[in-house]
Amino acid sequence: MAACEECGGHDLRRLPGTGGAVFECGLCGALSGDDAAVSRVRDAREAAARGMDSALYELVKALEGIRGVRVVRADGGSATDGALPVVFVAVPHTAEGISDLERIAQSIVLARPRLQFPWMLEVDVQQRLLFLLSPRLPADGQRSRADDVKRAQQDLVTLAHALRRDRSLAWWSAPRR
Ligand SMILES: [Zn+2]
Repeated sequence: MAACEECGGHDLRRLPGTGGAVFECGLCGALSGDDAAVSRVRDAREAAARGMDSALYELVKALEGIRGVRVVRADGGSATDGALPVVFVAVPHTAEGISDLERIAQSIVLARPRLQFPWMLEVDVQQRLLFLLSPRLPADGQRSRADDVKRAQQDLVTLAHALRRDRSLAWWSAPRR
């Protein structure tokens, strides 16, 4: 019988909703099993603990992978309510913080051909300076709002991948003027 990698206990339980790919230790709560599946469960729990949708958590993590960058609030949007996704980003009030914003904005511009909508970084003040990342929808009464929300939600994943990729490219770490 398999033992928990953390505590050696033998009370491993199949975690529901993971297709049997993840086990949870009944003694210490440690997760084991398929690495990718385990990290998906961890992300989903982290997202829930922070009150964020797991749909946009990949983007939140990609943004917070940049040192000093913090996502203070994020909403994955809702097709039912017609609410679009929005992410509130805070950066340190330093030259480096501004450079990070510039890099994030540049990454969004480069991802544009793969995005359903143009995304904007807007400045907002709520007790402190925040930067709002949100899709800009062209005015067109023919489209359905619910469909727009779903397409904007696809963009969340595209943006997360773009940020992750760009951070490993030379231009990201090139010195700024
Ligand atoms: Zn254990």
